[in-house]
Amino acid sequence: MQVSIEEVTQALHESHGRYPQANSVEDFRRNLAAVQQRISSACQRVGRDPASVRLLPVSKTFDEAHLRLAYVAGCRLLGENKVQEAQRKWEAMADLTDLQWSIIGHLQTNKVKQVARFASEFQALDSLRVAEALDRRLQVEGRRMDVFVQVNTSGEVSKYGLPPEAVAAFLRALPAFSTLRVRGLMTLALFSADVARVRPCFVRLRELRERLRQDAPVGIGLEELSMGMSGDFEIAIEEGATVVRVGQAIFGARAMPDAYYWPTADARPASHD
Ligand SMILES: *Cc1c(COP(=O)(O)O)cnc(C)c1O
Repeated sequence: MQVSIEEVTQALHESHGRYPQANSVEDFRRNLAAVQQRISSACQRVGRDPASVRLLPVSKTFDEAHLRLAYVAGCRLLGENKVQEAQRKWEAMADLTDLQWSIIGHLQTNKVKQVARFASEFQALDSLRVAEALDRRLQVEGRRMDVFVQVNTSGEVSKYGLPPEAVAAFLRALPAFSTLRVRGLMTLALFSADVARVRPCFVRLRELRERLRQDAPVGIGLEELSMGMSGDFEIAIEEGATVVRVGQAIFGARAMPDAYYWPTADARPASHD
């Protein structure tokens, strides 16, 4: 199954119409409230407590001034996809001592040092080399970090993350890294406006978690499922998400195409399913 350029273009158009830019604290308060309302409604549909879903605002591409508005509106943890961008913002906003950073994008070993310094959470762990390097740097910094193991549930070759069948062995190796607190699994669904193709990605992550939980290594927590973004977080919540990563519905539509963040795209290969 292949995601066509038309579908990607359509999804981008839809997001630009749907998500106006937030340019004041009031805008952010309103958008945050609207997202919380959508979270509550989704929870209600499936009998979940809205408090069981954490909203992670994703601030990538937006400038410091907008992040500061979001902060005043109540955001204390911001998700960023790229390390350099996140580090720049962290340095510029060091005066906000209770603002924390979650790295939600792929990490190369040569960026581990920076992440170990400032991030409180890393959601895209998918290699032992990165786990080892991160653990070593965190030891040096005297810090610990919450991590999520990223799983590729869409079968798209373009997306990072471990194939589901590789996760069990990966988890067995993680207790060796004492600074990493494994909280759960993370995934990106297929980038499509078609719910029938998006939902199975979330179901796959939840079912994988249920299987893995039965013999998870000691100290490896699998309580959390980080899945769902502006366009699909209600579906993700219906399927068990405990963290939703929401950018555009809070900050406004991004100018940058998502392909910039999920290196892919022009030669996007056919997926497996
Ligand atoms: C950008 C991004 C999101 C948020 O996407 P929006 O469409 O802005 O809600 C979520 N997860 C990851 C990994 C991202 O890079």
